[in-house]
Amino acid sequence: MVELLKNKLSRQVVGSMVGCVHCGMCSDACHYALARPHDPTMTPAYKADQIRRIFKRHFDWTGRIVPWWVHAGTPKDDEDLNRLKNIVFGTCSGCRRCTLNCPMGVDTAVLVRLTRGILTELGIVPEGVFVVSKDSWETGNQMGVTKEDYLETLQWMEEETQAELDDPTFKIPIDKEDCDFMYTINPREVKYDPRSIGNAGKIFYCAGESWTMPSWGWDQTNFGLFSGDDKLGGYIAKNLYEAAKRLRAKRIVISECGHGYRSTRWEGYNWAKYKQDLPSESVVVTMVRYINQERIKVDPSRNPLPVTYHDSCNIARSGDLTEEPRWILKRVCADFREMHPNRSDNFCCTGGSGLLSMVEYKPLRMEVARIKAEQLTATGAKIVCTSCHNCVDGLTDVIKHYKLDIKVAQILDLVADALIIPKKNEKK
Ligand code: SF4
Ligand code: SF4
Repeated sequence: MVELLKNKLSRQVVGSMVGCVHCGMCSDACHYALARPHDPTMTPAYKADQIRRIFKRHFDWTGRIVPWWVHAGTPKDDEDLNRLKNIVFGTCSGCRRCTLNCPMGVDTAVLVRLTRGILTELGIVPEGVFVVSKDSWETGNQMGVTKEDYLETLQWMEEETQAELDDPTFKIPIDKEDCDFMYTINPREVKYDPRSIGNAGKIFYCAGESWTMPSWGWDQTNFGLFSGDDKLGGYIAKNLYEAAKRLRAKRIVISECGHGYRSTRWEGYNWAKYKQDLPSESVVVTMVRYINQERIKVDPSRNPLPVTYHDSCNIARSGDLTEEPRWILKRVCADFREMHPNRSDNFCCTGGSGLLSMVEYKPLRMEVARIKAEQLTATGAKIVCTSCHNCVDGLTDVIKHYKLDIKVAQILDLVADALIIPKKNEKK
């Protein structure tokens, strides 16, 4: 374990290991600590201290000389390791809200991810993490979707969209070379929400776009970000980058997914040690361009219900994409209202960092979801829109658990609903 930790030390990591002065300010930021104010084990500093004590024992002179004084120590047995597993996988959604609240610049989520990565290498992980990691290695996507299922779903969505557009020439182009962009998706879209693929195709069609989807390397999500496994992260990211290169796409467009956005746009290049030579963007940015350039026309009266927006942690806090979603929603919805706090200060949907795959931690997740439920209720909205498939599931759990009268949608769905489809002879 000590050797694995040593290999993961970098300036950023060491800064977070030694920077904490235990001021407690991060506790006011964490939804776990806010929901359980009398439980010190829910504070970000406590969670980070569990890896910090190992670091101190082996890499800091104070912990080497007087370990009892600085609370330094190494896990002694399986029980200690299991306890560590339950802390880093079960009590942190990697949202990084505490990072923004720390005057010392300590990034607790980085330390949590690092510890998860060490435990993953040691094979001490929740069953869900093991299963999803295995599926990712074996099929190249985190939901174990086979190539046949993927291609059949695209074919099905192509036929559905042809009927909707009343145009049999509509295509979802697969492995087409030299297009303006390669569109990459979340496997959840194939498995549970294929409508979002059809909606994207419909919007690209109306904009007269030159686009394609790859038959391999299409998963823009990356479970390596959650499990802390940089090797898995590099494998998945490289599949996608190689697909774009093979097809000579001019750009990579990422469908709505928070951790996919973060992994594909920058983390993946580091994990895969891959030279970034193509621009990439969220499909939200693509849609802003279409509306701005009047390549598509939208009618907000088609979305009459009050809509609020949930900022995905990885898109807003870690990705700084906060204004574009609002710019679109104000144009495709008749009644847009803010949730508070919002943007980089928003609270997690509670399902971040792969927690949706770890059923054993769901009771605690639903308990701390009270913070999110209160935030949602205060808006009075009937629809909460987000730009992340993971957040869709996280928010759906919160809404069900707290019996809220709110539905979840994505930006792409609301744009598709508001889309004015040009008559055939008007299409560019
Ligand atoms: S805010 Fe920063 S310095 Fe203060 S306890 Fe939290 S991590 Fe430590
Ligand atoms: S990253 Fe989020 S969930 Fe984890 S300790 Fe910080 S605020 Fe809490």
